[in-house]
Amino acid sequence: MNFDVIIIGAGPGGIFAAYELAQKKPSLKVAVFEAGNELSKRRCPIDGDKIKSCISCKNCSIMSGFGGAGAFSDGKYNITNDFGGTLYEYIGKAHALELMKYVDNINLAYGGEGTRLYSTAGTRFKTECIQNDLHLLDASVRHLGTDKNYVVLGNLYEFLKDKVTFFFNSPISSVAALEDGTYEVRCKDASYSCKKCIISVGRIGSKWMEQVCRELDIPTSSNRVDIGVRVELPASVFAHITDELYESKIVYRTQKYGDKVRTFCMNPRGAVVNENTNGIITVNGHSYEDKSKQTENTNFALLVAKHFSEPFKDSNGYGESIARLSNMLGGGVIVQRFGDLIRGRRSTEKRMRDAFITPTLNATPGDLSLILPKRILDGIIEMIYALDKVAPGTANDDTLLYGVEVKFYNMEVAVDSHLESRHKGLYVIGDGSGITHSLSHASASGIHVARDIAENM
Ligand SMILES: Cc1cc2nc3c(=O)[nH]c(=O)nc-3n(C[C@H](O)[C@H](O)[C@H](O)COP(=O)(O)OP(=O)(O)OC[C@H]3O[C@@H](n4cnc5c(N)ncnc54)[C@H](O)[C@@H]3O)c2cc1C
Repeated sequence: MNFDVIIIGAGPGGIFAAYELAQKKPSLKVAVFEAGNELSKRRCPIDGDKIKSCISCKNCSIMSGFGGAGAFSDGKYNITNDFGGTLYEYIGKAHALELMKYVDNINLAYGGEGTRLYSTAGTRFKTECIQNDLHLLDASVRHLGTDKNYVVLGNLYEFLKDKVTFFFNSPISSVAALEDGTYEVRCKDASYSCKKCIISVGRIGSKWMEQVCRELDIPTSSNRVDIGVRVELPASVFAHITDELYESKIVYRTQKYGDKVRTFCMNPRGAVVNENTNGIITVNGHSYEDKSKQTENTNFALLVAKHFSEPFKDSNGYGESIARLSNMLGGGVIVQRFGDLIRGRRSTEKRMRDAFITPTLNATPGDLSLILPKRILDGIIEMIYALDKVAPGTANDDTLLYGVEVKFYNMEVAVDSHLESRHKGLYVIGDGSGITHSLSHASASGIHVARDIAENM
């Protein structure tokens, strides 16, 4: 079967590429191939009752399917060039922001109306941070919430389903560049051809992306991984910050090593969740806009960026090995009270029961110092004490630390300002390109490429 455009992956990158093509060039025959299920069939089997922790499904419903890794996410669309990816390095800062705002308007039009846009502009908290050696990054953030995010995705699917051919449960095994300049895309028992191919396979497709780059001789580079913990504490500790800003990205430089530790993915009144990346269980978090689904706790990650120099190349392998250690000791994610960590003892079921906080994730009580490298753990402890100055209570004994949270960075695929690889007509976008690491940047990259194709076909 022949298509004008084939999109591989139905995460935000793929969806917004399909959306923009349908808007700007409805005459094009477009297909989307997605390894996972359609939205309504995505269901994680963890019910907290019969199945309490990750059973490593062949197809992870949290990471795969229509909506991609973002489907059950908190739906925080950060409109900024300060974090979330380096798309601006390819397309320019002003254009990147313009595309993120365009995506925001689409989200509002498809079910996100009424949601709040938070901003760091003019906040008093910035000064308070600097006075305590903490640095608040600038951003506006649209918080759709897990529930509204799902509604928006459902509406986008309704809009797209008659204009684009969707193939679900159809992982693409290979992409071949043919001599006539077209592409052949193969899945289990069929192959399809197209004039333009957009690859948007996200973090879960990182290994497959490496294989494609090897086969098509597309240069790549990589050498970073972020490792840390997810912090969970009573929502009241951070309420004065989250009520105003919702998400605050705060960076701290440790006194001991000069490493940068940063807050990441803040979920006021949210829940901590498992994340399964290629069979390795790590931790993440989300929260609902709907007040009835909110919890008493706020969670956020504290991450330390690790850049490696020659000769070591496998930064993701390093992160995976650390995550595997926690999986080995705890059968999945490990949780430890901050008080236990600094006293050099493991958390136990009893100590967890005695704590004045109810964890939102059922993790194994244990000892993170047996898992995280000293340098990383020292940095996290230092930052917790620094945060305690602007949010007293952060360094409380009962503050929970879940480990490990790993932010894997896909290797960066060599593309030009069109996000086109050295093969004309083969685009690589979203988190799978290594250029974006967020909903807004991934979505914006999809729009950018779709416009390029619409203008040139
Ligand atoms: C629990 C959680 C919470 C998050 N919260 C936020 C948040 O609040 N804000 C934020 O900015 N970011 C958040 N993120 C990150 C965000 O979801 C990603 O940055 C974003 O989804 C990237 O979009 P993408 O389209 O590049 O890739 P993805 O969303 O990962 O989508 C890629 C899709 O490609 C499919 N695929 C992979 N390989 C193949 C193949 N070979 N053939 C066919 N299909 C394939 C996958 O199944 C997947 O559906 C969160 C992530 C998680 C897991």
